[in-house]
Amino acid sequence: MYPRNYVPAADLLDERVILITGASDGIGKAVALAAARHGARVILHGRNVRRLEAVYDAIVAAKQPRPSIAPLDFEKAGPEEYDQLVEAIGREFGRLDGLLHNAGMLGERAPIEHYDVAKWMRTMHVNANVPFILTRCCLPLLKQSSDPTLVFTSSGVVARPRAYWGAYLASKWASDGLMHMLADELEGLMRVNSINPGKVRTNMRLQAYPAEDRSVLPEPEQIVDPYLWLLGPDSRGVTGQTIECQPA
Ligand code: NAP
Repeated sequence: MYPRNYVPAADLLDERVILITGASDGIGKAVALAAARHGARVILHGRNVRRLEAVYDAIVAAKQPRPSIAPLDFEKAGPEEYDQLVEAIGREFGRLDGLLHNAGMLGERAPIEHYDVAKWMRTMHVNANVPFILTRCCLPLLKQSSDPTLVFTSSGVVARPRAYWGAYLASKWASDGLMHMLADELEGLMRVNSINPGKVRTNMRLQAYPAEDRSVLPEPEQIVDPYLWLLGPDSRGVTGQTIECQPA
């Protein structure tokens, strides 16, 4: 599947229009910077505009293809805001070649008996409902591409479900289920896969494991190649799979 010796070509993503959610921080930011470096026109989604602008500025300063910024708080956004986002992409680009559902929240880590219901709903919404809503809205634009690719973000809790992961675990199972269903539903039209980054040194990881030694964890920049592979033409023909960024 994903070739472990993979080296993305410098022009891998030339002319490709790619929407990355959660591109303001962590893994999404690293993938956005790498995608721009490899020629993509990146649409940077996030919640925090200041952080999004910093990513935008870094791409422009490096003289890479000018990105776009799409701020949207997934906890609060309603149907009109999704429609506006998709209309704006349609107006500017007329198509979408790649969509990476990367934004996510950890929610609470607690026994189900004590799990806060409102936090459960928010986490399920951002991690599972939003990938459905955004996919649904973006499908017409993806269908305008000659090589569309749709990528969901998985987690180790899917392969190894365990106690106290609450809505995060349930939402990652839901998102992976959606990926499998869509891979079947859209067979022949586009490839649909998931990616599991493994343990990565980000704020979310720190929140999940505040006491761990962070120095042993890879930086987000070190795990971007499998993302580029899925977003570019080298993964043609691969669908319904979960790609592991790091060997088990
Ligand atoms: P992170 O550093 O905490 O970044 C999360 C990103 O999601 C940020 O860009 C954030 O935007 C965005 N986001 C969160 N809530 C949002 C909301 N309500 N509306 C809009 N955007 C929102 O996390 P990460 O570690 O890079 O995680 C990225 C993905 O990888 C997640 O799906 C996560 O589940 C998955 N993952 C991570 C690890 C790991 O070890 N790090 C392991 C397995 C899976 P703002 O900055 O604007 O708030």
